[in-house]
Amino acid sequence: MGKKAATKENNVRTCAACGVKGDKGSLLRFVAAGGLIVPDWRGALGGRAVYACPTSACVSRFYTLKRLPEKFFKGTPAFAVPQGEIHGWIRMQAEASITHFLGLARKSGIMRTGQNTLAESLERGTATPAAVLLAADLAERTVRGMIAAVPAGVPLLRWGTKESIGAATGMRPVGVIALAASPITNRIVHYCAIINHFCQEL
Ligand SMILES: [Zn+2]
Repeated sequence: MGKKAATKENNVRTCAACGVKGDKGSLLRFVAAGGLIVPDWRGALGGRAVYACPTSACVSRFYTLKRLPEKFFKGTPAFAVPQGEIHGWIRMQAEASITHFLGLARKSGIMRTGQNTLAESLERGTATPAAVLLAADLAERTVRGMIAAVPAGVPLLRWGTKESIGAATGMRPVGVIALAASPITNRIVHYCAIINHFCQEL
C-alpha cells in the first residue's frame, strides 16, 4: 500500500517558474547538456532536469529566470531553443505528438469515427467516449450538434483539419472522432490543451 503512494510521489515535480507541483508527465522537461538548457519533449534525455508548466506564462517566465538551481545549471541560463522560438517549438512538438497518438489510437482500436457512429452510440447509451475530437474545419452546424449530443464532462477537443486527422489515422478525411478511455486518449487531451494554451499567443 505504501509502495503505490511512494511511486506517485516520485512522479511529482515542481514548476521552476511558478512553484506549483504537478505530475511529471504533465510538465515540460528541460535538461542541461553541453552548456545549454535543452527542452526534452519526450523525457528521454538523461541527466538532471527542471520542469515548467506547459503554459505560455510559465515558459516565458522560466526563460527570464536569472538563476536556476546550482546543481542543475551554473551561471546565467543559456537555452538551446531561443526564447523567441520556444513557443513555436512547443506547438510543433504538440502537433507531432497528437498526430502520433492518433495513429496509435487507430491501431489500438480505441477510436470510432464519424458523426453518425457517435450519435448512434450516444443515443443507445453504449460506450460513452472519454473524449471527442472535432476538426477545426468541421461545419458549425455539426459542431453545435456534437456539443448538444456529447454528455457534459466529456472533453470536446478542436484540432487539425478533416484532412490532417485523416492523414494521422491513415483514413479518409474525417471530422469527428470518439476516443475511448485509455492512456493514449489522456495524451491526446493533454497535447490539445497545450496547443490551446499556446495558440492564444500566436
Ligand atoms: Zn508553472
